[in-house]
Amino acid sequence: GMELSGSSALVTGGASGIGAAAARQLAARGCTVVVADLQADRGEALAEEIKGVFAQVDVTSTEQITGAVRAAAEIAPLRAVVNSAGIGWAQRTIGRDGQLESAHSLEAFTKVIAINLIGTFDVVRQAATVMSGNEPDADGCRGAIVNLASVAAFDGQIGQASYSASKGGVVGMTLPVARDLSAAGIRLNTVAPGLIDTPIYGEGPESEAFKAKLGESVLFPKRLGVPDELASMVLECLTNSYMNGEVVRLDGGIRMP
Ligand code: NAD
Repeated sequence: GMELSGSSALVTGGASGIGAAAARQLAARGCTVVVADLQADRGEALAEEIKGVFAQVDVTSTEQITGAVRAAAEIAPLRAVVNSAGIGWAQRTIGRDGQLESAHSLEAFTKVIAINLIGTFDVVRQAATVMSGNEPDADGCRGAIVNLASVAAFDGQIGQASYSASKGGVVGMTLPVARDLSAAGIRLNTVAPGLIDTPIYGEGPESEAFKAKLGESVLFPKRLGVPDELASMVLECLTNSYMNGEVVRLDGGIRMP
């Protein structure tokens, strides 16, 4: 598999949730991690904990992405990138009370697509350019990228048009981009999480939204996934040199009919 020790890694959305868990696991494998996030306080604290670097990045800024990719490549060859930056859409505020309109506003749709889809693509594009200059390892691999999609790419929840479209886009780009990057020795895979216990839902376990999510679990006993379970799959996608262009669902079986 691809050796991560002695490389740098870039994790967008690295200050929280799945990204933070991936950053910790990458550091444990000997990577110097650039934690790229909007949130400076949590990002800086994590960077200090894992002896990495924090970069304040909004993934809708192409210049800020350039800065973070450069910062990583200056530390050591950039071999691992995880695109975990993303926003959800507050499903709980949208219902039969006319507020569906706000979920379908062009402004909301454009914002979610800009962060979750275009931001992800921009990081892939810029990171791949830098990675293509790396020395190939024994398997011919110069680097690997993992994008975060969602089960929402395959389902249809209330008020989730923007989110599902953005994650469907992340799924859709996986094969063609993986094909294009293969020639440069760069692998791209996508992980599609189910319901993971992270701050993305904004509310604690006592909230109705959280309980509703829990109710959807088909596991016994019912539970949400935890960030480390997702991060382990992200690490597998990064290091398994035979894994390319895959979309891996990791959702506790939630899509079982
Ligand atoms: P999270 O909210 O804990 O972490 C997301 C991070 O992204 C935050 O630190 C946030 O500050 C950052 N971020 C948001 N907008 C940004 C921007 N414009 N630029 C840079 N950083 C930005 O969420 P999470 O649950 O860990 O989600 C990580 C990824 O996994 C997201 O793409 C999310 O859509 C996806 N996902 C999560 C779940 C889940 O149930 N938690 C399910 C499916 C998919």
